[in-house]
Amino acid sequence: MTQTDFSYDPTNIFARILRGEIPNKTVLETAHSLAFHDIRPLAPVHVLVIPKGAYVSLDHFSAEAPAEELVDFHRCVAQVVAMLDLGPGFRAISNTREAGGQEVPHYHLHILGGRHMGRMIQPE
Ligand code: 5GP
Repeated sequence: MTQTDFSYDPTNIFARILRGEIPNKTVLETAHSLAFHDIRPLAPVHVLVIPKGAYVSLDHFSAEAPAEELVDFHRCVAQVVAMLDLGPGFRAISNTREAGGQEVPHYHLHILGGRHMGRMIQPE
């Protein structure tokens, strides 16, 4: 098993948002998480939920974040879903590293909804 590189680049755009250097349209801020609207929405609702901690990806966050941060993050997701009336359904996506199409190297969960989201991904 190869060791994954979880080194974190503090100059990434979401780190700058968390430091208040770049504005964002906040949906919800909790003790350890921030939810804000994606700048280039791909659905009527497109929100990004991020932990405030320095985690590069879903697997990094899941492996190393303390329980308090993990719970806070998922409760934040649940609150966002309720606040934005996504009860009928939504899609959650976490693009991970190069082959997963990740552009910003700070863990984020895309929450997409407000319309029928279709099938999961394009078939081969
Ligand atoms: P990824 O491709 O890494 O999964 O997704 C990165 C997401 O961040 C993209 O959907 C992109 O539109 C969004 N994004 C990039 N820069 C900014 C920004 O400065 N502000 C906001 N709100 N979203 C951004």
